[in-house]
Amino acid sequence: MDATSVFDRGTKIVLRFILIYVFLASVWVLFSDSILTQFVSDVDTYSRLQTYKGWAFIVFTGALLLVYLKPRIEALNKSQKTLLDAEQELKSRLDYELTTVECMQILLETTDIADVLPDILDIVHRTVGNSRSYIFQNEEDHKLGLCMSQAYEVVADGISREIDNPDLKHLPYSEGSSTLLTTLQAKQHYAHVVEELDEPDRTILSEQGILSILILPIFCGQELWGFIGFDDCENARQWHEDDINLLRIVADGIGEAILRKRAEKALKESEERFKALHNASFGGIAIHDKGVILDCNQGLSEVSGHTIEELIGMDGLLLIAEDFRGIVMSNILSGSEEAYEVIGLRKDFTEYPLRLEAKNIPYKEKEVRVVEFRDISKQKKAEEALRENETKLNAMIANIADVIAISDEGGINIYKSPNIEKWFGWRPEEIVGVSTWANIHPDDLARTQEIFASLQDKPNATVSAESRYLCKDGTYKWIEFTAINLLHNPSIKGILLNYHDITVHKQAEDALRESEKKFRNYIENAPHGIFILDEKGSYVEINETACVLTGYSENELLGTNLIDRVVPEFVYKAENGLKELISNGFSSVELLFIRKDETVCWLRRDAAKLSETRYLMFASDITEKKKAEHSLIEAKMMAEENSRIKSEFLANMSHELRTPLTAIIGFSDMLRTEKFGGLNEKQLGFADHILKSGEHLLELINEILDLSKIEAGKMELECEEFSLSEMFDEIETLTAPIMGRKNIDLKIDNNIQTRQIFADRLKFKQIMYNLLSNAIKFTSDNGNISIVADKTDNEVLVSVSDSGIGIPEHRLKDIFNPFTQVDASNKRKYGGTGLGLTLVKQFVEMHNGSIRVESEEGKGSTFTFTIVDSICNQKISVDSEIE
Ligand code: ADP
Repeated sequence: MDATSVFDRGTKIVLRFILIYVFLASVWVLFSDSILTQFVSDVDTYSRLQTYKGWAFIVFTGALLLVYLKPRIEALNKSQKTLLDAEQELKSRLDYELTTVECMQILLETTDIADVLPDILDIVHRTVGNSRSYIFQNEEDHKLGLCMSQAYEVVADGISREIDNPDLKHLPYSEGSSTLLTTLQAKQHYAHVVEELDEPDRTILSEQGILSILILPIFCGQELWGFIGFDDCENARQWHEDDINLLRIVADGIGEAILRKRAEKALKESEERFKALHNASFGGIAIHDKGVILDCNQGLSEVSGHTIEELIGMDGLLLIAEDFRGIVMSNILSGSEEAYEVIGLRKDFTEYPLRLEAKNIPYKEKEVRVVEFRDISKQKKAEEALRENETKLNAMIANIADVIAISDEGGINIYKSPNIEKWFGWRPEEIVGVSTWANIHPDDLARTQEIFASLQDKPNATVSAESRYLCKDGTYKWIEFTAINLLHNPSIKGILLNYHDITVHKQAEDALRESEKKFRNYIENAPHGIFILDEKGSYVEINETACVLTGYSENELLGTNLIDRVVPEFVYKAENGLKELISNGFSSVELLFIRKDETVCWLRRDAAKLSETRYLMFASDITEKKKAEHSLIEAKMMAEENSRIKSEFLANMSHELRTPLTAIIGFSDMLRTEKFGGLNEKQLGFADHILKSGEHLLELINEILDLSKIEAGKMELECEEFSLSEMFDEIETLTAPIMGRKNIDLKIDNNIQTRQIFADRLKFKQIMYNLLSNAIKFTSDNGNISIVADKTDNEVLVSVSDSGIGIPEHRLKDIFNPFTQVDASNKRKYGGTGLGLTLVKQFVEMHNGSIRVESEEGKGSTFTFTIVDSICNQKISVDSEIE
């Protein structure tokens, strides 16, 4: 019933009352007198009644009115009250409705839910008129379980704020009400007068001064996002359904708004992502309808060289090289969604490898094709490079000395490089899938497995070791391997091994060890002291003999220096020896060393460089040798002295002999002339014999005298310039009589006639005379002699050849020795002293020349000598006394 109907009803009652009253009044006015007249005959009574007739009517109608109106007025009052209550309720509902609408409007229009939640809360708070309104947001905590934090709050005047209460931040549900979470999860409201609650909820809420509480869950889809709640701290109020409904609508609205915002955000992000992906795509994307491009991205513009504006509306086939348009068209027509490769055509008509992949999609109510254009030039190049690299890698792996292998965690071979066949005989497929340990020598197995075990759980850890490896022919080879743990590496997923055959190396090592042993043995037993020195000359290694030699123990010697324990006068020599060793790589010194027992010995040290920091030194005791040398020097000096005395003696003796000999020759010659008396034939023969013997003796003495002078060092060159031709003429003149007697033919072939030579003229003449007189002497009558002279750079070469008796080969080497004659019997036949060639050789050598002889017995001899031209330019006087 609304106010209008209440008013209408009241009006009707009043109108009806007036109508009845007017009717009764009219009846009363019309019939009261006649009625009165009928019942009252007394005039006084009648007149008195006439007087009270009006009052009686009023009382009567009043009573009637009372009887009639009272219940109606009461009903009317009641109706009015009901009407007011209804009006109040209606107003309240209207407020709730308006609040709901306002909140929904805000939530629908908002761009940021967080911004509007305080307003929503405020509006609802004002509408409900409670003490405190709040929103809590849930947080997931792996340890504490689901937690709540107060996010927003509105309070009435005089009510304390709880928004900053740290206890209401990240508060686990499990620490609060026992029923709240389950109630909210069941999408139920939590509405209670606190006094009526069970523990612990009652105590918890009472302590906060809350008398009545209403909480509703906020669900975001299926997720319990949080809750909205109302506290009444002033009244233990029973929550009205409208409050509950309002809150439910608002809570649902908040949940939906959050969900919507989330969806919008996700959509926006997705759009942005799509847009970013679309443009950041590495290729071009186009949507086309039967080849005509409807839309495309920036990528297609970059790939094709056309602008986006040019591309839209363009026939997509123009982006394909002519030869490939047929394939593309047939794929479009068949609706194929397989990726395929063609050749693309850019705006500048250059061609490039292109990969196309299309999908049929609905677009703006049409079935179109979206196609991805991918320039695969780089990919093609990379593929080619990869292929090349792979080929190279395979070739390398197949040809390197190392075998490359991969085994899994359990030691099973999962890869073997092909070159394993070359080194160990196995074909890879024969041992892939087999345990690595199957090929390891039983004696090396435990050790090798232990080494592998050390790699476990250590990514990138590396080990190296040696072991024996079984070849296909049943023999074992020593290998050196390196293993690296690449189990974590997605492209290897195993233990990577490389190994190679070191059998030869092992054998060499054994040989080296053997050799070292031998060497060590030799060193230890060597007769020499052997020292290994560092670059400062300090001993770092020594052998036993070195200790014996020096008298010091190994420990006493090690660390001491090459210079130490040398007699002070030899320290300088020792230092120089060390310097020479370091700079030249070798040195040899002899010095006096002080042994431990203070005796001194001569040591010879021969050292050589082994490396930059190591030198090897042999030391030997040469004391005895030194003594022998000393004796030898003394003996030599004595011999030289004796020789000098002898030469002097001979020189003197020759002089002493020549004087009487001159007298013998002179007087015997005089006797032969018979100037001082006649001689018989026998006497004449004796005189002749004395003369010849004297002359021979004089010749002998002269030659001995010359040799003695040379040996005594008193014969020196007296060089001058002279003509060789003149020299030969002189010699020819000198020997002409003897040659004439034997009818010998002399030929002189002087090839250096025009030039003077520079030599000792007299000695040169003596050389020529001796050689020529020998040639004449040993050549029979009618023989031939020739002299040939030649000149080399700075030498004069002269040879004297004859057709005489020659010299036996075995005597050739002796004939330049003093007193040597080929046949003693010749002495008688040919005469001579056996000193002529000795003198020739001495004179030639004084000229820095040499002499040689070529001869054949019975055929003749050739003596060839050279002298250095210009050998001397000084004149030295010959000892006049000896001369
Ligand atoms: P001799 O005074 O004996 O000639 P030499 O020293 O001149 O002494 O010669 C030594 C020896 O060399 C000679 O006795 C001779 O046997 C041999 N001899 C030297 N020249 C010739 C030659 N031209 N032909 C053969 N034998 C020669």
